[in-house]
Amino acid sequence: MRVLLLGGTTEASLLARRLAQDGVDAVFSYAGRTDAPVAQPLPTRIGGFGGPEGLAHYLADQRISHVVDATHPFAARMSRNAIVACAKAAVPLCGFERAPWASGPGDDWRHVADLAGAVAALPERPARVFLAIGRQNLDAFAAKAQHHYLLRLVDPPQGPLPLPDTTVVIARGPFTEPADRELLARHRIGLIIAKNAGGTGARAKLDAARALGIPVILIGRPELPPRLIARTVEEVMAFLAHPADLGV
Ligand code: NAP
Repeated sequence: MRVLLLGGTTEASLLARRLAQDGVDAVFSYAGRTDAPVAQPLPTRIGGFGGPEGLAHYLADQRISHVVDATHPFAARMSRNAIVACAKAAVPLCGFERAPWASGPGDDWRHVADLAGAVAALPERPARVFLAIGRQNLDAFAAKAQHHYLLRLVDPPQGPLPLPDTTVVIARGPFTEPADRELLARHRIGLIIAKNAGGTGARAKLDAARALGIPVILIGRPELPPRLIARTVEEVMAFLAHPADLGV
């Protein structure tokens, strides 16, 4: 067995630890979006594969027997490429996917389908917005330039941002609810825009929003073709032991 683990999430790092502990032959893959990616206890490669064809070639070249896609639920291009490449190379694929967040009592969430929906849902009057979507896709919000945007980024931005009125905080998750409550209060945030990532690493801002009564615009996940899904590290380990048993 030789596993390719597509990473870039807290869950991928958890799985990497387990694979290393169990002595599984595995390669961890990063896209290379951040300047100093979290070190992994597995041999690590960094950078794109060159589309589905490049990935299929890599699978054959590296004699990969299983692929676990533990990328972020919004990293849809990579996930689609993995589905295509694994089908082509006849390599079993499992998505390690956290369940989407669901609202509870006290949450004030408005669900939108995509980025455009989030931009459209912003009010016209100027607001102080925590735009918690990472570094990519900020330019979509230039259409609502009247707002002050708080951005939390892993690395300092290289060059000017596409938004005129921003505060940038440099930080890497996982985050905690008390710290995010303090962040929201300090920056007098009145509205949050977030992706429905699921999992624990980015959940703190939603718990903090509930505590402070701040509304959230939550962007829904991109659709993916059907694939095997594991929700826990144990389910991934079961997939590696018996790739056909998990069910779609
Ligand atoms: P994406 O749009 O789906 O992928 C764009 C391209 O980046 C892919 O086609 C692939 O290039 C390369 N790529 C993505 N993930 C890779 C990986 N783990 N290993 C090697 N190449 C990878 O992805 P994205 O949204 O830019 O996300 C990039 C990375 O950041 C992922 O690892 C993801 O888990 C992480 N991340 C994303 C988000 C988010 O909101 N999107 C949030 C947190 C973390 P080729 O086509 O050349 O193979």
